[in-house]
Amino acid sequence: MARACASSSLIPAVNKLGTMPLLLGASEELKATYLPPVARGDALFAYGLSEREAGSDTASMKCRATRAGDDWVLNGQKSWITNAGAAEYYTVLAVTDPDGRRGANVTAFVVERNDEGFTFGAPERKLGIKGSPTRELRFDDVRIPEDRMVGREGEGLKLALQTLDHTRVTIGAQAVGIAQGALDHALDYVRERKQFGKRIGDFQGLQFMLADMGMKLEAARIMVYVAAAKSERSDPDLSFFGAAAKCFASDVAMQVTTDAVQLLGGCGYTRDFPLERMMRDAKITQIYEGTNQIQRLVMARALLAR
Ligand SMILES: Cc1cc2nc3c(=O)[nH]c(=O)nc-3n(C[C@H](O)[C@H](O)[C@H](O)COP(=O)(O)OP(=O)(O)OC[C@H]3O[C@@H](n4cnc5c(N)ncnc54)[C@H](O)[C@@H]3O)c2cc1C
Repeated sequence: MARACASSSLIPAVNKLGTMPLLLGASEELKATYLPPVARGDALFAYGLSEREAGSDTASMKCRATRAGDDWVLNGQKSWITNAGAAEYYTVLAVTDPDGRRGANVTAFVVERNDEGFTFGAPERKLGIKGSPTRELRFDDVRIPEDRMVGREGEGLKLALQTLDHTRVTIGAQAVGIAQGALDHALDYVRERKQFGKRIGDFQGLQFMLADMGMKLEAARIMVYVAAAKSERSDPDLSFFGAAAKCFASDVAMQVTTDAVQLLGGCGYTRDFPLERMMRDAKITQIYEGTNQIQRLVMARALLAR
């Protein structure tokens, strides 16, 4: 899907992001309540981890859930949430033990769009993926029944990070798709466009660019497939491969889309062709689900732990 439209490819990608914590850690009852509507295509699931002051440093989140009888009461906000407002269900991470150990004091809950006190911020005005809504989540005394807790109390951040190990592979796949779409368009163009009496694809200077684009793209694709197989099997080295596939493929998508714009010359810079959109869309794959700096931290930590 990303080969044609990165925004559209985010619909299934974010469903996976929102439901993965349930698949990994929820009770059978919770799964039976929330997963079938998503599988049927009747509901979307979103994922609320990031906050205004807690992006890369997720453990410093401030969103708070306080016990009140058999319920939990949620207060705070989440930033940059894809499909906010469009999704029926949200997996939200909140601090349940403010005096507890950092990283072990967070719990995951399912929040429903119609829960009282749950509202959304204005749509963010973004560089790319403009077809995909991104908004804040705001919680003002939102009551969540105990049975909507995902996994156990205090396990939320562990679940959130395990989720990202799997879903970063999807972002890698999205990046490969964007890069493939850009290369497809660039190839069509250089076969037709003539300058100096020749098709521009006959110039060796451009052929070397095309070769590099194709080579990097295929390396990224293979890396994503290897990481996807590791995700399917939940291999112990998935953290390294998930981060590596996302980081490598998104850097490749940025390079390939930028070069594809160059190959189209002035046309590449206009909205008459999809290349400028692909270049803007590629940029987000280097930022969300952890920036590529954070992916490098994850990889280095995995290497040093060997
Ligand atoms: C369009 C869009 C959609 C998103 N969708 C979602 C979503 O659905 N759910 C969700 O929870 N979040 C979502 N996010 C949030 C996204 O995951 C964060 O923006 C991202 O993790 C970075 O956090 P930040 O923006 O606070 O940047 P910061 O953490 O402030 O980082 C700023 C810069 O500092 C660098 N940096 C930070 N710490 C380090 C370090 N230790 N070492 C080296 N460099 C460092 C970063 O790499 C970056 O370059 C989305 C973001 C966007 C823009």
